[in-house]
Amino acid sequence: MDKFSFFSNILSFVSTFFENILKIATLLIPWYQENKRDLPWRATRNPYYIWLSEILLQQTRVAQGLPYYLKFVEHFPTIKKLADAREEDILNLWQGLGYYSRARNLHHTAQVIAYQYNGRFPSNYQDIRALKGIGDYTAAAIASFAFGLPHAVIDGNVNRVISRLFGIEKPINKPDGQAEIKIALEQIFDPSRPDIWNQAIMEFGALQCTPRNPNCTDCPLNTNCLAWSSKKVNIIPTKEGKTKVTQVYHSYLVMRLGSKTYIQKRETGIWKNLYQFPLIEKQMSDSEVINHFTEEFGIRKTIHLHSIREIEHILTHRKIFAKFYTISLNTGSEILKNNIFEIELDDLGKVFPTSVLTLKYLKQQK
Ligand code: SF4
Repeated sequence: MDKFSFFSNILSFVSTFFENILKIATLLIPWYQENKRDLPWRATRNPYYIWLSEILLQQTRVAQGLPYYLKFVEHFPTIKKLADAREEDILNLWQGLGYYSRARNLHHTAQVIAYQYNGRFPSNYQDIRALKGIGDYTAAAIASFAFGLPHAVIDGNVNRVISRLFGIEKPINKPDGQAEIKIALEQIFDPSRPDIWNQAIMEFGALQCTPRNPNCTDCPLNTNCLAWSSKKVNIIPTKEGKTKVTQVYHSYLVMRLGSKTYIQKRETGIWKNLYQFPLIEKQMSDSEVINHFTEEFGIRKTIHLHSIREIEHILTHRKIFAKFYTISLNTGSEILKNNIFEIELDDLGKVFPTSVLTLKYLKQQK
C-alpha cells in the first residue's frame, strides 16, 4: 500500500468511526469482559507479579507459562526473595521454558530493584524501560497494568489486529510497517483506561482475531475491519524475510559409572550456566567423536561404547542435530579434566538445571 492509500484508509476509517476512540473501546472492552480468560496476573496491580508474568510469557503460550508463574510466585513471593535466590535455583524452576537469558536477566533485574531501588519497582516508563530484559512492549505493559500509565502495548497480537483493522499490508516486522501500526494505534488507543484497553486488544488478538481462522463472521469489529471487507484477512499481516534457520551439530558424551555420570557447566551461549554432558559443537564422524573424547578425558583404554542416541531439537534460529554417545567406564577410571564433575545421573535436571534437549535425552532413557 502506498502512503496515499494508507492515509486515505485511515481517513475513511476515521470518518466511518465518528469519535473513533470511544467507538472501538465501546466494542472491544465489553467483548473483553465477556470473553477474557481468568488469569492470576490480571487480578493484581503488583508490578513484581506483572513483570514476572510478562517475562515468563515472552515467546511462550499462556497454557505453558501459567504453571511456571505459579511456581515462581510460590517460591519467590517477593522481589527481594527472587533477588536473594541462587541463580541455579532460578534456572531449575525455569527449566523447560527455553530462552534462559530471560531467567538470568530476571535475576539481575530483581537484584537491581531490591538494592538500587530499595525494593520499590520503578513507576515511570523510562525507568522501567531501562531495566535489563525489559523492552518497549514489556515496559508499556508494566506501566499500564501496574501503574495505569497511558502507554499502548504493541505485541504480536496487537500487530495482527491493527494491521487487519486498518488494512496495513506493509510487513509488520519492518520499520515502515511498524510506523503505520503506531499511527493507526494512536487513532484508537484509549489513554483514559490504558490497562483494560491494552488487555482487551491483546486478548482479542489471542482469542478472536487469531493468526489462522480468525472468527470474522462473529466479530464485533467486522463492519469496521478493512481486511475483512477487502477479503484480505488471510494475507494480512505480512512479514518479510523469514528467519534463517541454521543447522548445528552437537555430540554429547554420556559417561556412565554405575548410577553416576559426569557433567560440565556451560559458560557461554543461550544455555549459559546450565549443566550438560561434555559436548563437541561440530559435525564429526562417530569414530572422530569417540577419539576426540577419549583423548580429551584420558580414557582411551577403559571405555565400552554402549549406545548412540540421535535427537533433533528445534530452536527459533537453529536446528540442532544431537547425538548422545553413552559409554560405560570401568571402576577406577580417572577423568582428567578440571571443569568436569561427577553427579548422580538422576540429579541432572533436578538439582542441576539443564536444557530441554538434554531433558529429552534423559526422558528417552527412562
Ligand atoms: S473481522 Fe476478522 S480480521 Fe477483522 S478484526 Fe474481526 S476477527 Fe480480526
